[in-house]
Amino acid sequence: MKGDITADISPPEWAWEFHGHRCPFMPLGYRMARLAMKELDTEHEKDHGFFVIPELGVGHPQTCLMDGIQVATGATYGKSLIEKTFWGKLAATFYMHGKAAVRISITPEFSDEFGKNEFFSYRKKGVEPSGIPAGVTDAAIKWMYGQSDWRVFKIERLPDYRFAPPKGSFNKVRCTKCGEYVFERYVRLVDNEPYCIPCSGYAR
Ligand SMILES: [Zn+2]
Ligand SMILES: [Zn+2]
Repeated sequence: MKGDITADISPPEWAWEFHGHRCPFMPLGYRMARLAMKELDTEHEKDHGFFVIPELGVGHPQTCLMDGIQVATGATYGKSLIEKTFWGKLAATFYMHGKAAVRISITPEFSDEFGKNEFFSYRKKGVEPSGIPAGVTDAAIKWMYGQSDWRVFKIERLPDYRFAPPKGSFNKVRCTKCGEYVFERYVRLVDNEPYCIPCSGYAR
């Protein structure tokens, strides 16, 4: 299939170890991210120039996508390169800071077909992925890889996309009450003295 560039791309072994169980969503996220990187003509991010804004929420199993996205892109939670919108949608925007952005979503048609895999009847019964027979999980993964990019994903270029990452600062002060360091963005003033958030009495 012309333009079908990710159907044969599987995550490295360490990605499974990192993720903890075998499931079809981690590799689907990996595939999605590799497609975005191809679209943006970029490589695994070393530092802080590539951001991912996933539209996923909490409490739905597809959030495993995000581990595959992190593995592929190097845009990790730990480097503060991931910022979820909590919209509960199967999509993410991939943003090269100041250069280009692409949004990739998973098509409803693919989702409907994907949901017919036996893997999901176990999940609906409340079985965790690590408790599902390996053959059942692998069949779902294989089925996913058998679908063409254009069936699985919708790709949108976002020429006007703006995302302002927070400005980095190394400045910190010691909290008046507990004496621990707190970075300046998070310092709260009580009677003009600097406090950390838990000691300040402020909610945030
Ligand atoms: Zn998973
Ligand atoms: Zn404190």
